[in-house]
Amino acid sequence: MPTDILWKNILSEIEKEITSSFFKAFLTKTKLINYENGVLNVTCASEQARFQIENKYLGIIKSVADKLTQSNTKIVMTVEEAAKKAVTEAPLLDQIAKEKAHDPVFTLNSNLSTSYTFDSFVVGPNNRLASAVAHAIADNPGTVYNPFFIYSGVGLGKTHLMQAIGNEILKNKKGGRVVYTTGESFTNEMVEAIQNSKRQYSSVSKFRDKYRNVDALLIDDVQFIAGRETTQEEFFHTFNALYLNHKQIILTSDRPPKDIARLEERLSSRFLSGMTADMQAPDLDMRSAILRQKRDQLKLPITNEVTDFIAERVLSNVRELEGALLKVSAVGQASGSAVTIDQAAEILGQVAREQRKNYTSTDIIKAVASYYNVKLVDLKGPRRQAEVVVPRQIAMYLVRSLTQMPVITLGEIFGGRDHSTVIHATDKIALAVKTDTKMNQDIINIKQGLL
Ligand code: ADP
Ligand code: MG
Repeated sequence: MPTDILWKNILSEIEKEITSSFFKAFLTKTKLINYENGVLNVTCASEQARFQIENKYLGIIKSVADKLTQSNTKIVMTVEEAAKKAVTEAPLLDQIAKEKAHDPVFTLNSNLSTSYTFDSFVVGPNNRLASAVAHAIADNPGTVYNPFFIYSGVGLGKTHLMQAIGNEILKNKKGGRVVYTTGESFTNEMVEAIQNSKRQYSSVSKFRDKYRNVDALLIDDVQFIAGRETTQEEFFHTFNALYLNHKQIILTSDRPPKDIARLEERLSSRFLSGMTADMQAPDLDMRSAILRQKRDQLKLPITNEVTDFIAERVLSNVRELEGALLKVSAVGQASGSAVTIDQAAEILGQVAREQRKNYTSTDIIKAVASYYNVKLVDLKGPRRQAEVVVPRQIAMYLVRSLTQMPVITLGEIFGGRDHSTVIHATDKIALAVKTDTKMNQDIINIKQGLL
């Protein structure tokens, strides 16, 4: 994508996220000077603007830029040379401060992305149930299905659907309070609150207030809290407080509650007490529909023939589909003419080659360790407990099949094990993948997490 179009796309996403007075004051005058090696060099009109943007909105800008470029970007803000001596925007700042004082705190802090709506969510056989439940909840939060637990492999729309519910609740109820967070942030915030409580008596109660005084609490990737005793304890009480007050709780995870290792029984039974729905990978028709919708939404100059071509070749998940669509369309925008099937084929081939090259045994072993919530050293070490033996065999299987590493080297990586052990383990898993649907799904999840 040429830099001016890229920046225009980024700004139009950001505009939806932040107060319009702020946007007009500082962001409309920004320019993307260049985008090289993942760094976006952006200029703005004043020192004041740089300070404000860097302090408040760098995170949002980065996340939008990451999404649109499908890479890990870094934003560097500088002040336009000509503007260095310019007067400050003090009156405008006052105005923003005044507007902010009237904003209800919880809409400001809901953390929802406004682009994740029901409108932009394509419904098909793979997500019909989850989507129907989501609509019912948005219409009647806290009453029909509580809690709602959504699970699926990565990139299949959990975050999108969950946030669509949150956005819809806010739309229906003025001053409604919705908080979105991830299992990881919830954990980090809680650890921080406990640490601060030594200095500041109220920090833990502030944390509690934030999560217990809401109409809907959305916790994404809740599996992260498993294995952490204090976090689970705190979450258990938060859950009960909300549930007893008929407040909506929505949770997502990469697997069903009973398969989350080291999740306390009292939590998994509560997660199961409402409604659970899973989502599968989209079929061909659905992939085509999603691509056409994204193309129209982003106004990309791509024909149906090309979107269908991509739909036939990218099978894994929706995030990958979007990535492929953006990469293909970038070529068209660079050359200024419509993308041909041959060009699309060339790009998809390149993407596939890059992905294959990028697997390292360490990445794979780490992904397996985190999926099963076991320590990396245990996977490679001598322990023989059941909870590490199977993950270890799976790690061996994945490293062997994804890197073509020789079995002798593989044995060395896994704590000096004999090559026959490696062959036995990988054969066993290869067979299980064919006969055991849960094993097959686990392997798919881990592989998708690697992409
Ligand atoms: P997950 O949380 O399951 O990993 P996300 O919700 O982040 O997946 O989805 C990945 C990307 O795919 C997002 O950009 C999302 O908007 C898009 N997406 C996923 N499912 C759909 C769908 N059914 N319709 C439209 N876009 C979708
Ligand atoms: Mg997600």
